[in-house]
Amino acid sequence: MRKKLIAGNWKSNLLLSEAISLANSIAAQPISTHYELAVFPPEAFITSVASICNTQVFTGAQNCSMYAEGAFTGETTARQLQSAGVQMVLTGHSERRQLFGETNSVIQQKVNKILEAGLTPVFCCGEMLPARQANQQNQVVLQQLQESLFHLTESDFGKVIIAYEPVWAIGTGVVASPAEAEAMHAFIRNEVAQKYSTTTAQTLRILYGGSVKPDNAQELFSCNNVDGALVGGASLKVADFLGIAHSINQ
Ligand code: PEP
Repeated sequence: MRKKLIAGNWKSNLLLSEAISLANSIAAQPISTHYELAVFPPEAFITSVASICNTQVFTGAQNCSMYAEGAFTGETTARQLQSAGVQMVLTGHSERRQLFGETNSVIQQKVNKILEAGLTPVFCCGEMLPARQANQQNQVVLQQLQESLFHLTESDFGKVIIAYEPVWAIGTGVVASPAEAEAMHAFIRNEVAQKYSTTTAQTLRILYGGSVKPDNAQELFSCNNVDGALVGGASLKVADFLGIAHSINQ
C-alpha cells in the first residue's frame, strides 16, 4: 500500500516570518497514518523550516547543484542540504527546465547527487501544451524518464518519487482531468515495470501536480495510480494545503 504524499512547493514566495508561520501551522497538524506531508521552502529558510517540521512533515529543497562540492559560486550541494535538515529535493521542475535551461542530462546529474547525499529525489516530468495537443505526452515523459532516471540501479530507483506535472496545468487553474492524470500515471508505472520490475513499479509513488486545489483533489486522489500531489499556489495557504490533504479518503 503506497502512502499518499502531499508536497507543497513554496517557490520564491514568502518572507522568513511568513514561512515560519506557515510551517508552524502545518506542523501543528495531528499526525496522520493515511498520508505524509512535505514542504519545499525557499532555500534561505530551510534550516528555520526544518527545525519546525521535525518528524511529522518532511522538509524539501526546490533545487540543488549538479556538482558535489567546490568552486561553484551561488550553488548549494545536496550534501549541504542534507546537513541543513533536508530530506527531499525537487528536480526537473518545469520552471527549472524552462527558465534556467536545465536539460534531462543536467537533471540526471542532480538526481545522482541527491541520491549520493542520502536524500529522496522528487523528480518532476510532464509535457507542454503543444505535445498534449499532438497526443505526444507519453513520448515526452518517457524520454524524460529514460534520460534522467533510467540509468539508476533498481535499488536507487526505488528511492525516487515521481511527480507528473503537465506544464499546461501548472499555475494556470487548468487541472488535468482525473482520466488524463490516471492514464499518464498508469503509463509511467507500466514503463517502470518494464524497465525494472513489477515490485518496484508498484511501490513507486507518483504524485500529480498542476492546479491542485481542495475542490479538485478528492477526484484526483481516487485514481488508482495517483499517490498524492505536488502543490504550488495552494500550498501557500494553510487551509488550502491541509484541505487538499484532508480530501484523501481515509
Ligand atoms: C508546481 O509548480 O509544481 C505546481 C503544481 O503549481 P500549481 O499548483 O500552482 O499549479
